[in-house]
Amino acid sequence: MKEKNQLNPGRKQPLILEIKGNALDDGPGIRSVVFFKGCPLSCAWCHNPESKRVGVEIGFEANKCVGCDTCIGVCPENALSRVNPFFVDRTACSLCFQCVKNCPSGALERIGRPMAVEDVVATVVRDKSFYDTSGGGVTLSGGEPTLFMDYTADLLRLLKAQGIHTLVETCGLFDIDAFTEKLLPWIDTIYFDIKIMDPADHKRFCGASNETILKNFKVLHEWAQNGGAEVLARTPLIPDITDTPENLEAVAAFLKQCGADKARLLPYHPLWKQKKFKIGIADPAGQNPKSMDAFQDETALQNCRSIFETAGITL
Ligand code: SF4
Ligand code: SF4
Repeated sequence: MKEKNQLNPGRKQPLILEIKGNALDDGPGIRSVVFFKGCPLSCAWCHNPESKRVGVEIGFEANKCVGCDTCIGVCPENALSRVNPFFVDRTACSLCFQCVKNCPSGALERIGRPMAVEDVVATVVRDKSFYDTSGGGVTLSGGEPTLFMDYTADLLRLLKAQGIHTLVETCGLFDIDAFTEKLLPWIDTIYFDIKIMDPADHKRFCGASNETILKNFKVLHEWAQNGGAEVLARTPLIPDITDTPENLEAVAAFLKQCGADKARLLPYHPLWKQKKFKIGIADPAGQNPKSMDAFQDETALQNCRSIFETAGITL
């Protein structure tokens, strides 16, 4: 095991989307959340679609644009046009970000920035007094922090050296040996997504098999029972995809089989569609169920909760 101040040389550098302070929904207490860019899954409903790709992107939000057309004048590639439904032609854009620099309203945005581990730590440590008084800490989210094992290991190690509680949110698709060796010693809590139990549906809606994910959960849950980091399974409730009785019963049965008796259900929200549009992706008509256009109502949520509660899983 590395010493707390010893960093991994030549580690793969992720782009950071955002560091959000005063977060109350991503773990106990008041937290800072570091959002990584890049994910090995490709979930049809991803709530952070701008975090899927590893590389830098340009975003455009039409509702912020004041129509000055300054950006069109400075673009060296003629990539901006009112005729284009997304405004930006990403096949022509060279990502020079001249338009972003000159936009007066923040409608154009660079998505993803490299950040040294030490700079991330320096940013989040400013709120340490809030973490200490609220039982909070720092959450690594995404995207997928485990996609950058060495960087994430260094970050977690430096956070623990500052006495900060660490939580990693993961999609579960990673190399378990690297995870247990490099990350686990520095993690206090893991939020582990289990979305779909049927392997074919998982591949169809998330872009990869769930075999490794389920195996990894079992291993980490066993570690947790032997004094390792706490692991909490989470299932996002996606209308007619993950929230069906068949799927929720199968997830609950899997958790019981692993010996897990706690989980969390994440209510659905449809705002991801606007975020997708911002990065130039339209939903092909008819690809997703109509029910994905609206928030879930309380009755639907309660039906989902009761499936877990009946199976003996505390929410
Ligand atoms: S990033 Fe550069 S090339 Fe792309 S749209 Fe903006 S100005 Fe044009
Ligand atoms: S510079 Fe910004 S505000 Fe002006 S037209 Fe371009 S995107 Fe809109």
